[in-house]
Amino acid sequence: MHIVMASSEAIPFAKTGGLADVAGTLPIELAKRGHDCSVFLPAYRVSKHFLQEQPGSQFDESVASLVVDLAGYPIHAWIHRVRLPNSPVDFYLVDQPMFYDRQGLYGDSRGEFGDNCARYCFFSRAVVEAIERLQLPIDIIHCHDWQTGLIPAYHRTQTNHHSWYKRCASVMTIHNMAYQGRFWGPDMVLTGLDHSYFHWEWMEYYGDLNLLKTGIAFADALTTVSPTYAREIQSPPQGCGLEGVLSARADRLFGIVNGIDEATWNPASDPYLEHHYNIDTWKDGKAACKRSLQESLGLPIRPEVPLIGIVGRLAEQKGWDLILQLMQWWIDHRDLQWVILGSGEQRYADALFQLAMQRPDRVSLLTTFSDPLAHRIEAGADLFLMPSLYEPCGLNQLYSLRYGAVPVVRSTGGLADTVQDASEENILRGVATGFVFEDYKPEALAQATIRALDVYSQAPEVWSKIVTSGMSQDWSWAKSADAMLDVYEHARHLAKNDQRL
Ligand code: ADP
Repeated sequence: MHIVMASSEAIPFAKTGGLADVAGTLPIELAKRGHDCSVFLPAYRVSKHFLQEQPGSQFDESVASLVVDLAGYPIHAWIHRVRLPNSPVDFYLVDQPMFYDRQGLYGDSRGEFGDNCARYCFFSRAVVEAIERLQLPIDIIHCHDWQTGLIPAYHRTQTNHHSWYKRCASVMTIHNMAYQGRFWGPDMVLTGLDHSYFHWEWMEYYGDLNLLKTGIAFADALTTVSPTYAREIQSPPQGCGLEGVLSARADRLFGIVNGIDEATWNPASDPYLEHHYNIDTWKDGKAACKRSLQESLGLPIRPEVPLIGIVGRLAEQKGWDLILQLMQWWIDHRDLQWVILGSGEQRYADALFQLAMQRPDRVSLLTTFSDPLAHRIEAGADLFLMPSLYEPCGLNQLYSLRYGAVPVVRSTGGLADTVQDASEENILRGVATGFVFEDYKPEALAQATIRALDVYSQAPEVWSKIVTSGMSQDWSWAKSADAMLDVYEHARHLAKNDQRL
């Protein structure tokens, strides 16, 4: 199959969250299975910097040059093609410095960029034009999140504009319902679509233009990133107002858990780790990683103290309110070490900073984005906390399982699908991989953490079993890529029968 993906971020070019991991890794897995894959993303400043440091990659500048009409203004797009060393995937960067040569991807310290609607309308329109201009073979156009939600609309409504529209099916993946690309109604003019689609059944949402809704309404097939989240988003609150549209299209909505990039996230070969380990050597390996983490962060080197790791965006979704309600008590009363890595909302950074200032011997806080440190925390931590309010899939708990950092998670979305609670029965059956709690309440998180700490200190053999069960799980892309291929086939079938508008 010929698959073209469109995403606002993809590793290794640009990343703010799990979307980048998926858009950068899934195409490689599909290519390994003999499919032809390419990925379009904006040519951000950070992506260009990355390329300058990659001398081994093949860079074809301006393989196409286009003009996109944005509300009557002709704006140029230059399409560059990149092949990274040993990669089977072509990346196409859509270049327009006015839109993408900026410090952040979606915003900066002053907040979201005010022209995000124009930036991603432009991107979506440049992608569909570029596919035509470059005459790319294509069976599937796979779009990710609101930033590309317009593409399924062009595909379905402008059938005669481009020859490839008739040959292919569109698939839309929803990574997080909370981010919908909702803009004021008059921005409809930027889409270039007929105003009749500014209607509650298609693109309009309470007077606003909603780009995620657009993708959901027009795509031939929909996926989201875990089966539980696929169910949750069909009702409030997880549907975030779009539950009606989603349940109306439930027969074409599939939940597929994201895979992890096992080459990058492998404690046996991870280049960011000073000590490597596998399922047989994890005790010594993790002890050595814990020591070097403590050392490098200035924490007391105490092997016997449980080390709790947290990595995640500083956003309400990740459960920081619960963590903050508990942490004061924990740092006052329990001999634990906390290593926290997160960037995002200032209010959480400030509150965490207060705690870190009070007990620098117990709390190490880094409010930056650091890939190496994320790896080293997974390797050095005994427990990994992820008490999310909601979690479409979650990748960190999967990395934790692989690195033997036992996850403590709330039972929501992908966390519910990937972590098995250490109940007595699950321990006996040898399937327990972590500690799971239900209610979004501090006492529920406290109980789960205490359960975990009790097993850690009082039942080391049970702890070993939980660690090794987690480490032996297969959360690679192998299963998920096969499931995605099934969805592509299904989408092609649906596209043949779908009425073009
Ligand atoms: P989300 O996509 O909602 O942010 P996921 O768990 O799916 O959450 O993916 C988050 C990804 O971003 C993981 O790869 C995680 O390691 C990484 N990440 C998040 N915050 C940071 C940070 N401050 N530094 C390094 N990596 C981070």
